[in-house]
Amino acid sequence: MDNSDDARSALIVGAGIAGLTTASALARRGWRVEVVEKGDEGVPAGWGLNLTGPSLRALDGLGLADQCLAAGYGMSVITNVDANGVASRIELPRLLDDRRPAMAGIARPELHRILRGEASRLAVPIHYGLSVRLLEHRDGRTHAELSDGSARTVDLLVGADGIRSVVRDLIGRPAPVRYHGQMAWRALVPRPGWATSIHTFAGTGQQAGIVPISPSLAYVFLTENGVQRDVLPEAELASRMEELLAPFTGLIAEARPQVARSDAVIRRPVQTVFVDTSWSDGTSVLVGDAAHAPSPQMASGAALAIEDGLVLAEELDRYDDVRKALESFTDRRRERCSVLVKTSVAIARLEQEHRHRDSYSLIETCHLRMAQPA
Ligand SMILES: Cc1cc2nc3c(=O)[nH]c(=O)nc-3n(C[C@H](O)[C@H](O)[C@H](O)COP(=O)(O)OP(=O)(O)OC[C@H]3O[C@@H](n4cnc5c(N)ncnc54)[C@H](O)[C@@H]3O)c2cc1C
Repeated sequence: MDNSDDARSALIVGAGIAGLTTASALARRGWRVEVVEKGDEGVPAGWGLNLTGPSLRALDGLGLADQCLAAGYGMSVITNVDANGVASRIELPRLLDDRRPAMAGIARPELHRILRGEASRLAVPIHYGLSVRLLEHRDGRTHAELSDGSARTVDLLVGADGIRSVVRDLIGRPAPVRYHGQMAWRALVPRPGWATSIHTFAGTGQQAGIVPISPSLAYVFLTENGVQRDVLPEAELASRMEELLAPFTGLIAEARPQVARSDAVIRRPVQTVFVDTSWSDGTSVLVGDAAHAPSPQMASGAALAIEDGLVLAEELDRYDDVRKALESFTDRRRERCSVLVKTSVAIARLEQEHRHRDSYSLIETCHLRMAQPA
């Protein structure tokens, strides 16, 4: 890494998947990078996520795919079981090479440990408990005032602060967060022996499934349809999720007692954001969920976030003028991210209309499209 004084400087707001991968992509190219994160040093809640092929491919671009595969659970097949118990299989393309699996389930704390470890290896400081409260353009750079009263003037400001982005508003790119009438549940459970890849189950009213995230752990997911956006007491989550699983028969029913005993259950609204206008203003830019948050159904928000970091770094290599690089970044990313967000919204609708077969084929088509290079 080039840390010379004339290195270009970047301030990244948010130490989530987008912020940490963008930080590494820039630091590897000699940028002087700092990250501010409003949360504390604790890693995100103990549930998992699925790193699809494009996620793994982008992580490979940062030299991190093998670490993620080692810490997670590699797999290449999704088995969809419909409401009549009929199973169909989707074999996903292996985007790394024939030896490595198409995707991997991983615990979020493991992924964050790997991403933070890489930032630390590249000497990128992460300041916790810190946010940004004002952004201004000054002489072709961005001046940021932080919540502790300190200030930075940098060549590039990256808003990687998630679906409720403050940077989005500060740079004048407001976008509505849309709720789609579903709540997404996740419960961490011991991995059942049969769960060697992703399984989904279409119930009469909801859909559920299981994703292995290590040889010993998996998460059960459930999407609750037609509900108001509300918050339930944490102490009730495990028993409520168990109740919602009651109508399911077959293999997923075996996981119900484990869900009831799980001490790591979360429930999140299914919501999306897409910034229709440019994602940049001057030398500030949005990445990840701050610019384009799909609903969880496509399991691809992380893929888009990691790709953003790589593509942004490539465009900044191509142009000396940061503003031009940011415009070119938005141009390269807009269509791909828009397709994914729109597809995830369509799947949420199909699920609520109980058109599961249509949703399976849409998911498969979208995964194949996402397999094309970013
Ligand atoms: C239930 C659920 C399941 C999902 N499953 C999958 C999956 O299986 N596979 C997949 O690819 N994607 C999945 N996703 C989507 C994925 O989690 C997101 O797309 C991804 O986390 C986006 O990363 P991000 O860094 O842009 O945002 P975030 O992960 O939200 O990170 C934003 C960070 O910025 C910080 N921050 C926020 N505001 C400020 C501020 N003002 N100042 C400083 N810091 C700030 C936050 O504390 C956080 O650390 C799922 C999403 C949900 C809700």
